[in-house]
Amino acid sequence: MISLGIESSAYVIGIGIIDEKGKILADQRAIFKPEKGKGLIPRESAEFHSKQAPILLKNALKEAKLTLKEIDLISFTQGMGIPNNLRVAATLARYLSLKYKKPLIGVNHAIAHIEIGRLLTKLKDPVVLYLSGGNTQVIVYEEKRYRIYGETQDIPVGNAFDVLARELGYEMPGGPKIEELAKKGKWIDFPYVVKGMDVSFSGILTYSLNLIKKGYRKEDIAYSFQETVFSMLVEVTERALAQSNKKEVLVVGGVAANKRLKQMIEIMTKERSAKYAIVPMKYASDNGVMIAWTGLLEYKCRKKGIPISKSKIKPKWRVEEVEICWLD
Ligand code: AMP
Ligand code: MG
Repeated sequence: MISLGIESSAYVIGIGIIDEKGKILADQRAIFKPEKGKGLIPRESAEFHSKQAPILLKNALKEAKLTLKEIDLISFTQGMGIPNNLRVAATLARYLSLKYKKPLIGVNHAIAHIEIGRLLTKLKDPVVLYLSGGNTQVIVYEEKRYRIYGETQDIPVGNAFDVLARELGYEMPGGPKIEELAKKGKWIDFPYVVKGMDVSFSGILTYSLNLIKKGYRKEDIAYSFQETVFSMLVEVTERALAQSNKKEVLVVGGVAANKRLKQMIEIMTKERSAKYAIVPMKYASDNGVMIAWTGLLEYKCRKKGIPISKSKIKPKWRVEEVEICWLD
């Protein structure tokens, strides 16, 4: 069985093709880059995605050496994401499904990050730390659903890195710049905000921006910000491990690229005799392969796709709303 997946929920438009054994047959992507100093404007990114989609589709089929007739199912990101952007993948997927009479599978974006992570790291039942530009969640599988144990109460962690970097004068993505600066930084006292199992970054970000105004060294701000933010996330992850009795930690999403985070997760999991893995960098950010793979898992147990009438985009679709049929 071969699945084609289409992702377009944020900056990336991606088309991936994967087979039942998890062999990646094609991985085509294009990334929308806002003009300098501008954020993501949905109308512009959706237009970019629409233009790229047919090119990527052609290239993906070429890369996999397949025709659409040889594809068994069409998967697409149904949510969560930016509405204008989500509509690009949904529209293309509906068209391909109808024209080639293939089952249509609507995939939850966050679950796709987890599933591609599990596939590539071989972890079985991890506590998942999902850290990206748009999300910050600690997720645990329990009784047919991925449950959110903890999350950000305000801005996502990647976004906090990006805003801080921008205020320090750097371009997107800001995470790698902060990591670099932090290597030469010294500790400044910072607020630490964990509430139950949730975290909050907006106060810490405002605090950092004030330090910039007061003329503190960039390196020291970056270092203290990074240490604080990751300590908070590792604390919550450790508690999720203890509460859930799981023995593995998986980090997914773009922030997983950070080496200091890896070090902190490594120390924590070692102390708890747990395993950890970071999703391979190539598949940490958004891509079509993860959508194709999750669609395939879903189809294998449900044995049917969704009707067009149920294929409306779900911009706020949370992981716990999805009943998982392929685990246990
Ligand atoms: P995603 O939304 O999953 O595509 O991931 C993109 C986010 O990851 C952006 O907010 C980046 O700033 C962030 N990011 C990428 N590399 C790093 C890094 N080394 N440290 C911290 N954040 C990072
Ligand atoms: Mg993502």
